[in-house]
Amino acid sequence: MRDPRYDILFEPMAIGPVTAKNRFYQVPHCNGGGYRDPSAAAAMRGIKAEGGWGVIFTEQCEMHHTSEITPFIELRLWEDKDIPQLQRMSEKMKTHGALAGIQLAYSGINGPNLYTKEVPLAPSALPIRTFTNDPVQARALTKSDIRDLRRWFVNAAKRSKLAGFDLICLYGAHGFGIFQHFLSRATNQRSDEYGGSLENRARFVNEVIADIRDAVGDSMGITLRVSLDETIGELGFSNAELREFIEMNRDLPDLWDLAQGTWEDCSGPSRFKEEAAQEQLVTGIRALTSKPVVGVGRFTSPDVMVRMVKSGTLDFIGCARPSIADPFLPKKVEEGRIDDIRECIGCNICITGDMTMSISRCTQNPTFMEEWRKGWHPEQMNPKGESETVLVIGSGPAGLEAAWALCRRGYDVALAEARMEIGGRVTLESRLPGLSAWGRVRDYREYQLRQRPNVEIYLDSALSAAEVMEFGFQNIAVATGATWRRDGVARQHVVPMPIAEDARIYTPDDLMTGTLPGGEVVIYDDDHYYMGGVLAELLVKAGAKVTLITPSAFVSDWTNNTLEQATIHARLDDLGVEIVLNRGVTQIAADHVISNCVYTGKTRVYPADAVVMVASRTGNDALYQDLMLRQADWADAGIRSVKLFGDAEAAGPIAWATYAGHRYARELDGPDLGDALSFRREITELAAQ
Ligand code: ADP
Ligand code: SF4
Repeated sequence: MRDPRYDILFEPMAIGPVTAKNRFYQVPHCNGGGYRDPSAAAAMRGIKAEGGWGVIFTEQCEMHHTSEITPFIELRLWEDKDIPQLQRMSEKMKTHGALAGIQLAYSGINGPNLYTKEVPLAPSALPIRTFTNDPVQARALTKSDIRDLRRWFVNAAKRSKLAGFDLICLYGAHGFGIFQHFLSRATNQRSDEYGGSLENRARFVNEVIADIRDAVGDSMGITLRVSLDETIGELGFSNAELREFIEMNRDLPDLWDLAQGTWEDCSGPSRFKEEAAQEQLVTGIRALTSKPVVGVGRFTSPDVMVRMVKSGTLDFIGCARPSIADPFLPKKVEEGRIDDIRECIGCNICITGDMTMSISRCTQNPTFMEEWRKGWHPEQMNPKGESETVLVIGSGPAGLEAAWALCRRGYDVALAEARMEIGGRVTLESRLPGLSAWGRVRDYREYQLRQRPNVEIYLDSALSAAEVMEFGFQNIAVATGATWRRDGVARQHVVPMPIAEDARIYTPDDLMTGTLPGGEVVIYDDDHYYMGGVLAELLVKAGAKVTLITPSAFVSDWTNNTLEQATIHARLDDLGVEIVLNRGVTQIAADHVISNCVYTGKTRVYPADAVVMVASRTGNDALYQDLMLRQADWADAGIRSVKLFGDAEAAGPIAWATYAGHRYARELDGPDLGDALSFRREITELAAQ
């Protein structure tokens, strides 16, 4: 059972009139589903309740139709009609005694109102600040607008109560909530009693909290999520000014929820931020108030959590990503199962679900957002089907997850790996600069597999089809990964590009297995995720002079979705990498490349002793194809099924591979769905004509 040193994490704590059963606090987090997938989002929160969280929040909820952040899909509470879907969520949150919280957001200078076509309202008339630089400006709130806005907050609070919530979080962090916009000099340039001095800039939040307290404060706790630092010094709301604000308003909310001034800073990936990265900004704040304090920092270690509480830094341990990667984190601490915690790797793939308005995934937890759509539970598998044995070939993220999920279903599993170590691409990539935490994808699964009697792992076992046919396994799961292409085919080139015979071409696989070029190296990045940028860092550190050429307007373009693109650009610039944007590579010679402008086609020569080709990947499906050719002999060999999945089927990010492995395991021996959808979805009910 529980180690007594973690007892402190399980102490009940009051938040205004309500009490949380422990200190595990799931702060608001997006999920890409929101109002489009309300039952999926509600079921996901319900799993957190089962996993033991003391407080569970919604994602941001647009509390009035005059401020919304289309195209991003969050929640809406614009009228009574919105109550039932939020009530579904609060009910799920409360199933195991957690407090249910709703985050009310008025987006102000962050809401372009592309859907409602309302004129945005903000403290001052300034351009809307969004990821997409929408060409829209806000109008400054008049005093009468401010009175309206106060009333809208009260209406939203009353609706939140009707929807069954215990807690209201007023959003004033990440640049996304109006309370920050009023508090910060950067967005509040008013000359009336709501602008100027800190006391004036704090007037609005004081008024709203007083109004809400009058309306629902007897039964609901009111929390304020406030910016720790906007990192623009005196021009914005600094950490020093936040401290002054809290000192002046010691007991304003029932709990202070401290988060960074930009989302990029708050949810930094592990490549750039350690666990508890905000400690310095938070330390000492608790002494300024008599109210409890929650903070975040990708906390996955219960020892770090205990340190945060014992040192008087935090009262509640705020988690978003750690609660996604392992919704059962509190329960595992409670049951003394620390080694079973599936730690977040800090890859920020979950955030890409929101950024791409799709639905979120998690690299570590493939069941995330599939709790309702597919009925997947993070800790429970469906019962075993008819067959008994599975040979999983390849121990990358796809094979490892498949093996782990299959053995929990009760199959006898053999995992064969060609190399001397398991983990496939995860093992290789976790040795690249900044990516060591990604090794957790392997570590968690390897540890779990080694605890199980029904799994055997065979290293140094590159299997051929003939061998597979001899072994007598009923199901063959082929997860043999992918290989980076050397010929440049990706997006710019649909056929191999002209490459001189004496040109030295390297692929990411070469670099990851220790074969590095030196001298002047051109990295050609037509992949656009992290690999090109990470390899630039690796090569500079190994002494090469690096030029990174990409047809995109951004280096590591897709990392805009993982909130790290700007940091990657700055890191490479600091390292002296020459970044060449909007240019492709059309030809490679022994000592140079010819690059074209993607707009005009004008060419330019860049010297290159070697070229690293970060283009696309080809699935390693030779073994699978060989097995398919022998289909007529399967029955004699006792084989019932052969399936290809993961990067070998179609290369993608690691999260795609763990999902594919999990799906394979769930569906083995399952019914043939024919042409039917493999997941549930929700369709908006048609309005009466
Ligand atoms: P994924 O991301 O789909 O899991 P990886 O490339 O990470 O793919 O992992 C594939 C793993 O499969 C690698 O570790 C590789 O060594 C292994 N592998 C490839 N072919 C064979 C084979 N014929 N027999 C055993 N293991 C193989
Ligand atoms: Fe953590 Fe990555 Fe999962 Fe997000 S997707 S919770 S960052 S492991």
